[in-house]
Amino acid sequence: MKTGFDQEADKKDPKGCLIYETHKNLKVIAIDVGGTEIKAAVFTGPKQGEVFRVKTLRAEGSKGITARVMKLVADLVALEPEAKAIGIALAGQINEETGVAEASENLYWDNVPFRDMIKAATGLPVGLGHDVRAGGLAEQTLGGLKGVENGLFLAIGTGIAGAMLIQGKLNSHKFGGEIGHLNVGSDRSCACGSSGCLETVATGPSIAQRYFEKSGIQVAGAAEVFEFSKSGDALAGQVWGDAVRSLSLALTSYISVLAPEVIVIGGGVSKAGEGLMGPLRANLESQLVWQKMPLIKASSLGDLATCIGASILAQNAYAAAKG
Ligand SMILES: [Zn+2]
Repeated sequence: MKTGFDQEADKKDPKGCLIYETHKNLKVIAIDVGGTEIKAAVFTGPKQGEVFRVKTLRAEGSKGITARVMKLVADLVALEPEAKAIGIALAGQINEETGVAEASENLYWDNVPFRDMIKAATGLPVGLGHDVRAGGLAEQTLGGLKGVENGLFLAIGTGIAGAMLIQGKLNSHKFGGEIGHLNVGSDRSCACGSSGCLETVATGPSIAQRYFEKSGIQVAGAAEVFEFSKSGDALAGQVWGDAVRSLSLALTSYISVLAPEVIVIGGGVSKAGEGLMGPLRANLESQLVWQKMPLIKASSLGDLATCIGASILAQNAYAAAKG
């Protein structure tokens, strides 16, 4: 593959792994609160135990989801009394400094002070972060961004957001990384209140919706549209092609501004694997002129990237509490 960067990055020392080397046997609890599912697991150092999954039940609203998360925390602490810290990663507008889930289009957070609540309920140190940034932290520690100086972890699922790795540091601004709201010139209004956003063309639900509008066929998600396109359905091919072109347009802007060496793609839509990566690379190669082509790859951590990231947040919180 043509790429302008040195691809030796993977062989360099992964900075993030230090925490695992220091706390190889440390037991922590990790929780990932996403738009459709809450995942939780006990980790011993980098070793992940059984993953528990419960539905988020968005209809319950902020109060109901919060109660569900707190119950899960209590259950896991009872299950693993030796746990020394808790890490929690949440979707939405998450203030990592104050530990508050401020707002969310999908989970309706109403300034929930999760860090203080979990600390008060368990007496344990708590690491809290945004779900996609936690995924980026996992990629930086043991995934595709290991040893990379400038990179991007882009999660494409019910929404699109990125964890931006800039000069070795993950950007933690609560309004940063909203790549899904870059204008790609679509003719649609976006849930954010603007119009033309990437999310109106390339998320799982928008791919399914656009296919339904063209074909009259209801599908559960992007995976079906992708399968149809592979078997020669021209309308599915059009919708999938539009999604890929829009992604490549948004990424061209990102590449022009921040010059990532590597872009790791995660989230549900990335399960198309080379069916997404291949055409995305081809589109980018035709759009990039003076910019260097980054390495484009699917996440190797799958849908556990955020949960792994939460375990690292827990380890960091433990280390910080120990001083
Ligand atoms: Zn938008």
